[in-house]
Amino acid sequence: RAKMGRRGRAVYFDAGMGKAVTARMELEQELRLAVRDRHFRFAFQPKVELRSGRVIGFEALVRWVNGGGPIMAPSGFIDLAMELGIGDEITHFALQDTVAALERIDRRFGADTTISINVSARQANDPGFMRGFVAAIAATGRAQRLMLELTEDAFITAGQFQAQVLPLLREAGVRVSIDDFGTGYSSLGTLADITVDEVKVDRSFIRRIQDRPRSQGVLKAIGALGRALGTVVVAEGVETEEEARYLLQATDIDVAQGYLFGRPAFVEQLVRMPGRAFPRLR
Ligand code: C2E
Ligand code: MG
Ligand code: MG
Ligand code: MG
Repeated sequence: RAKMGRRGRAVYFDAGMGKAVTARMELEQELRLAVRDRHFRFAFQPKVELRSGRVIGFEALVRWVNGGGPIMAPSGFIDLAMELGIGDEITHFALQDTVAALERIDRRFGADTTISINVSARQANDPGFMRGFVAAIAATGRAQRLMLELTEDAFITAGQFQAQVLPLLREAGVRVSIDDFGTGYSSLGTLADITVDEVKVDRSFIRRIQDRPRSQGVLKAIGALGRALGTVVVAEGVETEEEARYLLQATDIDVAQGYLFGRPAFVEQLVRMPGRAFPRLR
């Protein structure tokens, strides 16, 4: 499988269409086998309240693994998996892994944390899939602990999402987050139409904020918007203390996620994280 991954990647560098098509077919085949054999695990990345340094939740991020370790980053296969329809199984794996991890997460970080699962735009707009998935969530008895991250594109057909899918989520008590906010379509319209529990500002706005006054303006505005709407705003991709300090001091953004606080880690590695004790920023 690892060898395959290397071949899959090589195609971008050296080849014409024939090779690319072959590589895609190979990747597709490998992916189907990986789903069949469940060669996926989920890494959990903390979300931290800036003011207190407290871990308030985690995001479950898929990892394609074999015995030896990760094979390929999600960006290399998740879109194809969704296209092939086998992404639905991966999303169910995410739920199962998350629920299985909850006991250890609770012991270490408290039972008030929320765990987020990513759902593709296609899935979010597939009422058939969502009905099954929400039923599976409800069956775990843990719906209140879960949040679904949807990209803005999931809301393009907002009418349908709003009419058919959102009520299911509300009824089950599952929370909803808009992922990568600011990079897709219809951001403000979405916020006006749909009550979401959380907005995650895309990490492109956090990159080099110190020397980008326009990004600073955008972050301040989204923070204020979140405050006005009563929606938690999360800054993604916070890598430096300067970035975190800026968010805390200059914006209304309360929560951050990023390598500064912790990389995505398997549940057995989470116990080595500092828990509630991230350094307080000033
Ligand atoms: P995302 O949902 O926006 O997840 C955040 C991504 O940013 C993760 O990459 C995470 O490792 C990375 N990240 C977090 N903090 C930092 C930071 O400080 N700096 C930098 N440079 N990167 C950071 P990952 O795990 O490779 O996932 C990439 C994307 O793949 C995700 O973006 C999400 O769209 C998708 N994805 C991952 N797991 C799943 C899944 O189970 N289902 C679906 N539908 N999509 C998934
Ligand atoms: Mg996400
Ligand atoms: Mg994101
Ligand atoms: Mg992002």
